[in-house]
Formats: sequence, structure tokens, C-alpha cells
Amino acid sequence: MVIQGHDRDRLLLSVTKPTRYLGNELNSVHKDPASVQVRFALAFPDVYEVAMSHLGTHILYHVLNSRPDVYAERVFAPWVDMEERMREASIPLFSLESWTKAREFDVIGFSLQYEMGYANVLNMLDLAGIPLLASERANTDPLILAGGPCTLNGEPMVPFFDAMALGEGEGLVLDLVDAYLSWKQSGRPGGRRGLLSDLAAIDGVYVPSMYRVGYCKDGRVSSIEPGEGLPRTVRKRVVEDLDIAPFPLYPIVPNMDVVHDRVVLEVFRGCTRGCRFCHAGFTCRPVRERSPETLLDQARRILAATGHDEISLSSLSSTDYSGIKTLLDLLGEFEAKGVGVSLPSIRADAFSLSLAEQVRRVRKSGLTLAPEAGSQRLRDVINKDVVEADFLEAVAQAFQSGWNSLKLYFMVGLPTETGEDLDAMVDLVKRVREIHRAQGQKDRLRLTVSASVFVPKAHTPFQWEGQIPLDEVKRRQEHLARRLRMPGVKFSWHDAEVSFLEAALSRGDRRVARAVEGAWRRGARFDAWTEHFRLDRWLEGFEEAGLDPAFFANRPRHYDEVFPWDHIDVGLSEEFLMREHRRAMEGQKTSDCREEPCKSCGVCLELGVPMDIKGGESTGGSAHQGPAEETP
Ligand code: SF4
Repeated sequence: MVIQGHDRDRLLLSVTKPTRYLGNELNSVHKDPASVQVRFALAFPDVYEVAMSHLGTHILYHVLNSRPDVYAERVFAPWVDMEERMREASIPLFSLESWTKAREFDVIGFSLQYEMGYANVLNMLDLAGIPLLASERANTDPLILAGGPCTLNGEPMVPFFDAMALGEGEGLVLDLVDAYLSWKQSGRPGGRRGLLSDLAAIDGVYVPSMYRVGYCKDGRVSSIEPGEGLPRTVRKRVVEDLDIAPFPLYPIVPNMDVVHDRVVLEVFRGCTRGCRFCHAGFTCRPVRERSPETLLDQARRILAATGHDEISLSSLSSTDYSGIKTLLDLLGEFEAKGVGVSLPSIRADAFSLSLAEQVRRVRKSGLTLAPEAGSQRLRDVINKDVVEADFLEAVAQAFQSGWNSLKLYFMVGLPTETGEDLDAMVDLVKRVREIHRAQGQKDRLRLTVSASVFVPKAHTPFQWEGQIPLDEVKRRQEHLARRLRMPGVKFSWHDAEVSFLEAALSRGDRRVARAVEGAWRRGARFDAWTEHFRLDRWLEGFEEAGLDPAFFANRPRHYDEVFPWDHIDVGLSEEFLMREHRRAMEGQKTSDCREEPCKSCGVCLELGVPMDIKGGESTGGSAHQGPAEETP
């Protein structure tokens, strides 16, 4: 234990929200360290409230602790005041369960959910007393792993990790533990390098130090060469049958308010809507559902184990779940106990609205709709399946049903966006207000219009696009802010500078790691938190590394460019992504393969895992199990 007794009390009393560091929550796991073979720290580079709202961390905690020979504990980023106290008193980073020093664990696995957490990873390693660079670690240092969506282009972070686990972690994390255990028990043959060779042989494990990257004179990547005997590409792992995949039925119940504090039912993974800007939509394919019966059983058990009074249906688009009506009917059994069901953003159509009305019987909440773009032309470019007439009809129905609080999500800076598209966004908002007025609603309309900034992401059809320059993003945001100044409308927008940095990091190569380190050394921490983000630290970090962030953020790419992530295989064919990009530029939509024939994205065949529709009510789709068909 790093610190105990009065010293520990004094430390906790000197910081805000000490509950963040206490551990000992209901359902947290406590084992005798002497009785296990592997101690695994699940690290999340953000504060407790955010980390505890991450389903993946709960799943891995459950999977690892289900093994008697493994003890998984949690290690989260200390908030800035706690970090200050820890550094003053030379207290190293510690785990929540046993306040054990992080560097005493065998393995530390970081979850990389978003680029704005990168500086926190370095800060946590530094607080733990572990060398930042994988190449400088000794045999006695823990194995440092990364998982999560950012590893699908984790190049800007690869020097800091020994290995990256690509894709879904349930089976993969156990394979990693087995390999570690066998290396440890056989006397650590080959030292750290020997262990990395063993890990590189596991499907879905990427050992970056074993891949050599070459660069052109102009800074583009020229080649990515695997070490001897290694595959040219590393393919992500997926769970084949979600119904039998492990799921935490006794999740930890936080002792304080966290971002999401409720029962989470993961109804399905993957999405085939094909919104061309969406990283998760392309990289989490294929669609695999849980059955309504399994979900009901999980809901009963988790409610009994936690005492929560809300169930959230989690997925990329929950109203697309083929058994959504059946499931909501089944979950109706908790209504009498006051347990509500929440649906995140719903599709703007009559069917989804009727579902939202059904769940609203227990808990009143606002309605969130995401048209993403104001004009039909631009919605076709991004392949957002929202037709204006249907959208306005859904809004009218929502008002008639008593909703007066509405959130609308849009994006600014989408490829091909013009001033007319921005004006169409304003017009759409005006029409929503007119509908409310025309209905003579007594309650005042509360309309929140939120605009994020388009960030081109790896493995999507827009990976070849550049983000528009920072000044232009700001100009468009200001234009919207001026035009949306109207009664009942609150306009909020995402920080353009954060989005610029996100764009630079999300498509960066491994040289960008020097900029990440430079920014961290200049004080970058908690960059996802507005009050802590400062672009100047990052610009100086890039300058020190001899790099221009605009090269990564704003530059459009040619089809023949070698991407820094070309050796990471998520199952999508490059031809499919190029075809989708061309169709976007022509304003052509591509339909959902759950409702129409397969679009030959490659995922089902490449991964050998077909679409799995278990909800019971077929959507009429055709899972791709045979040879590729022509895209219409
Ligand atoms: S391979 Fe076909 S069926 Fe499978 S996700 Fe891709 S487009 Fe859909």
C-alpha cells in the first residue's frame, strides 16, 4: 500500500471529491495478491467519473477477475489537485482496490478511447515511475498495453506501448494473460524482447517495435515493413456470438455521481448504416446482436446486484436493434418498480418516436435527434439516412406528444460543405420552431442545437479528406452562432482548436509521439476538459518535433498514399472505402446491408464472422456469407 492510516486520510481530505480514490464500492473485487499469478491494472486515462462510465472497463474487470489466478484492479488518472499532492509527497500512481503502486503490477492495460486522453497516459506512466518509452523499460517494469478504438491508428502513441490489442477484448485479454503467464513461469526466456515475440504471435496483437516505418522526403509514409516472420497486417479481433460473450452481472456501483450511473445493456455491436464520417460505424462491423431473452435476464440480475433505477440500451444506434419492440415490452416488467429505460439519440422517424414514447412512461426526458447536416445534398454526401419531410413529421409528432425539450446534433466542416448548407441548418431550426408555434403549444420550446466539428478518421471513407482550416471552422461557427440567435434556441459548438488537434492526432504517424511528449512536458493534461486544454502547448510540442499539425489535420490524401495505419486491418476492403468516398463526392447514398443486399465492405468474409441478427424481427437484411456482390 502506497500510503495508509492518518497520512492517507490527510491526503484524501486535502483534495476535491476524495471518493474518486477510495475504492471499496459495492461489487468491487478484492483478492489476496499472494494467491494470484498475474496482477493486471486496468488503466483509464481520465478521471474516475469518466472511467467508471466506460462499459469496456467493466467488461474486462469482470473477465479478468473471473479467473482465480488473475487479480485485476483499476488505475485512473488523478485529478489535477490530487496529482499535485502526490508529486509533493512523492506518492506514486496507485490502484483503487488495494492502493498498490501501479509499477508493481505485471501488466498495465490502458484504454485509449479518445485522442484527448493521450497526454494523461504519459502523465500516468510518469506518476507511476515507469519509463515513458517502451524501448527504455527494463525486464522488471510492467508490460504496458493499449486497447480501445484509438489503437486502430495508435501510431502517435506507439513508442509508449509494448503492445496494442486490436478490436474486442474479451478473448484477447485472456490470450495476453496466458502468454504473459507462460513466459513468467518458464523463467522469462529472452527477457522483455522474448515476451514481445510471444505476444506478436497472438491474433489481434500489434507489437509496434517490430514494424519499421519509412518516410518520403515530403513527410508522407513510404513503407511499413514487418519484422521477420510477422504478418504484413494485424487484424482486429471480434467476438462471434455476443449472446454467450461474458458480461458483468455484478458491475461496480460507484459511491459518487459518475457520467453514466445506471444498468447498461449492450444490445448489439457494429452498425451498417454507413454514415461516412463515423469511425465506430465502420470499425465495429459486423453487426452482432444479443437476444431479447439474454438482455432481459441480464437486466434482472444487474438490477438485483446494483439497485439502479434506470436501464440504458447501449449500442451505436439502439432503435436499429431488430428486437427493440420485443425488448421494450419485456423490460416493461420493471415499470412498476419505477425503473425507467433510456434510449440515447434516436432516429428521426415515426417508429423510433413511438419507442421513445413507450420508454417515457416511466421517466420524462428530452428528445435527441441527429440530422448531422442541414441540407439534403450534404446528408446524401455523408450518407445520413434522414429525409427532411420525415424529420419534420417526427418533430411535429414529438411536440404533439408533449415533448418541448429537443436536442439537435449537427456537424460543421463536413466534406463539400458550403454556405448554403450552413444556411439550410438555420432554416431547419427555424422550421422546427414554426411547427411548435403552429401547434399552439402552451409550454415554451427549449431547443438545443449542438454542432461538433468534422474530424476525418482512419478506416472511414473520409480518411482521404482534410479538415477545413482552423480559422475557417471558427468563421463558420461564428456565422451559425449569429444566425441561430433566436428565442428558445441555445446553440453550442465544439471547441475548434480541440477538433483541430484531434484531427492531427487521429491521422498522425509515429513521429507525432514526440509532439505528444513535448505537449505533456509543457503541462498538457485532461485535454478533453475545456478548462485544461491549451493549444499552444501542443503547437510547441509539434514545433519541437519538427512537425506541422496541419500536415496531418488539413491535408487531403491521394488514393495511392500509404497511410500510417495501413498495416492495421479492421476487415474493411480499401476498394470499398474508396468506392464509398467516390459515391460521397457524387452525392450518392449507399443503403444499409441489414435492409438491402450486401455492399461488399469485406468485413464478414475477412473476419469470418457473419452479421448476427438475434432480435427476432428480421429487418430484411442479407448478411454477407458468400462471394462479394456488386455494389449498386
Ligand atoms: S460484408 Fe456485406 S453484409 Fe457484412 S457488413 Fe459488409 S456490407 Fe454488410
